[in-house]
Amino acid sequence: MQPIDIMGKIVSLCKRRGFVFQSSEIYGGLKSCYDYGPLGVELKRNIAQQWWRSMVHQRDDMVGIDASIMMHSKVWEASGHLQNFVDPLVDCLNCQNRFRADKAPKIASETMVEFRKGGKASGEKLTAPVGEGGYVCPQCNSPLLSPERMFRGMFRTVMGPIDPLQEVMETLDVEKLSRKELYKEIDEALTRASVFLRPETAQAMFVQFLNVQQTASMKVPFGIAQQGKSFRNEIIVEHFIFRSCEFEQMEMEFFCEPGTQKEWLAYWAEERLAWHRQFSNSPEKYRLRQHTGKELAHYSDDCYDIEFLYPWGWDELEGIASRTDYDLKKHAAHSGVKLSYLDQQKPDPETGKLGWRYTPYVVEPALGLTRTFLSIMVDAYREETVEGKERMYLKLHPRLAPYKVAVLPLVKKDGQPEMAKKLVQAFRSRDIHVTYEEQQSIGKRYAKQDEIGTPFCVTIDSDSSQDGCVTIRDRDTCQQERVSMEKVVEHLQQKIYR
Ligand code: ATP
Repeated sequence: MQPIDIMGKIVSLCKRRGFVFQSSEIYGGLKSCYDYGPLGVELKRNIAQQWWRSMVHQRDDMVGIDASIMMHSKVWEASGHLQNFVDPLVDCLNCQNRFRADKAPKIASETMVEFRKGGKASGEKLTAPVGEGGYVCPQCNSPLLSPERMFRGMFRTVMGPIDPLQEVMETLDVEKLSRKELYKEIDEALTRASVFLRPETAQAMFVQFLNVQQTASMKVPFGIAQQGKSFRNEIIVEHFIFRSCEFEQMEMEFFCEPGTQKEWLAYWAEERLAWHRQFSNSPEKYRLRQHTGKELAHYSDDCYDIEFLYPWGWDELEGIASRTDYDLKKHAAHSGVKLSYLDQQKPDPETGKLGWRYTPYVVEPALGLTRTFLSIMVDAYREETVEGKERMYLKLHPRLAPYKVAVLPLVKKDGQPEMAKKLVQAFRSRDIHVTYEEQQSIGKRYAKQDEIGTPFCVTIDSDSSQDGCVTIRDRDTCQQERVSMEKVVEHLQQKIYR
């Protein structure tokens, strides 16, 4: 199957079976916003739950928080987002494509390049030299480009009853201002009144460092984890839910002693890689890539990406960055609150006296939940031909599958639905998410459960009332086994949560 083909098939499956819908579809859709349907919400929650389980519940050195999406504007001033969370935006003057200069194909300036007029395959062949920026349009290869404009990636909104635009118009003699001055005044008034939708969940963990450390009596090294929505006004949204403007993240800030950050970075890189691989059918499709010096953010002393082999090639899934003591120090400086930690058991390396107060260093594994959703779908998508018949199935890990079990009476009579519904209750009493279906032929019902990734179907047939047994069908092998009705729930529980 061609890679592009797979993406098309996954997008169509997501719509057809209720995993992901376009937002506001009946109004023509809102670009880059998506709604997770009845099955999508289950898969997304299951991924989030597995992350929380491994990061928080199974550890002694971790606690979680759930912070608000809007935070004090000073948070973004201190973190550097207000100044630095801007991307260089460029328009192609040949094909009108809009793109990010830093992501465009690099070609040395003055190199003569070929491209087609209007970006159309049938367009006249043209040549022109690459400009000073040293890049061309990613869509049509043209070097004829607009100047770069800086574009802020954070969404801003206004909290409270005062409209900053009205304030500018009422308090300033706007007619005496040049366009540039007016723009500056408006921008400043908006910035003063604005609150921003967070572009990452991380900052709340820095801002609440002391509250969490003290109330939960945490000792360094320890981590604070959070899951939640983030918003970025992305110039390019691409590959379905891979890059969208509203998305969900699962991030953790691990606070450690200065000097130990390299060790912790290596530890978390391996931990996180293993986490992804345990749910995958193709662990070799996940790899670690260390950032080169040029790629490193100014506050970071080392960084890894976990990359996944998407249908379009290797690309980022998760970032694991050693962020030094940059964030805590910045917030301490801007807020005037000492964001430090006192280790009473250790001597201060400078004075030699017992009791060392320091600003912890931070290692941050930052993962997109919605991006993980896509990687899991890509990993699970399977097509095969069995005995001349084609079938499609989602080979989802049982812990992630929306439904763990489908209970299916073979026919809608002879007491079979009643027996099946009893079994459904038995699964529910063990918190196993189950679906019940009695419409259509058993073959069609199996095919549907395969498509939505249900690992096990349990069928009640005419013999069930006689022998007290049911048939379990395995999604991946299509093998069937006969099991006593009394034991089937426990039997499957063990297989699902193995
Ligand atoms: P990219 O280089 O892909 O833009 P990034 O390096 O800016 O990502 P981070 O700021 O490190 O990303 O965010 C951590 C994680 O959040 C990413 O690895 C990714 O999984 C997810 N993520 C970031 N931006 C988006 C987005 N626009 N849509 C979906 N997920 C995103």
